Amino acid sequence: MCEEHAIGCHCGRSSASLMFRDEIFPEEIVSAVYCPACSGEREFDGDTMIADNGWLIEYDMEAARFFQDRVPEIAAEMSPGALFDGGYATWRGVYPGDHIDSVRERQELLDLARTDKPRYFKEFRQWGLKRMERLRLDGWRKAQTD
Ligand SMILES: [Zn+2]
Repeated sequence: MCEEHAIGCHCGRSSASLMFRDEIFPEEIVSAVYCPACSGEREFDGDTMIADNGWLIEYDMEAARFFQDRVPEIAAEMSPGALFDGGYATWRGVYPGDHIDSVRERQELLDLARTDKPRYFKEFRQWGLKRMERLRLDGWRKAQTD
């Protein structure tokens, strides 16, 4: 169960869709989201933030620690990175807005599914692979493979 939450960024020009794995933490542990247009106004603080391709998520780490007994696997190293990478408070999809773009891109492929299924399956596979490669090159944190 992963509930989705749309959170408006600090300047109000964008919003990001976040998910909270198993609802272990409430949405309120995210104190702010900064889009590329407003992230420059905020000085990066690695103790409370993660930076991802021009976006910032600022966490209320005090609130996060209040719930940390629910996640023994990260309690010892409770950090913005652990919250983000563990899926506890992270983008829905690879980047903010991913699920919207992804649905639109898939929709474009659907015409093909009706007319030429084998080719559709092939294109679909390539679409997924090419997409992840593009996002990796774009620098999104969740697309990095180390
Ligand atoms: Zn903004």
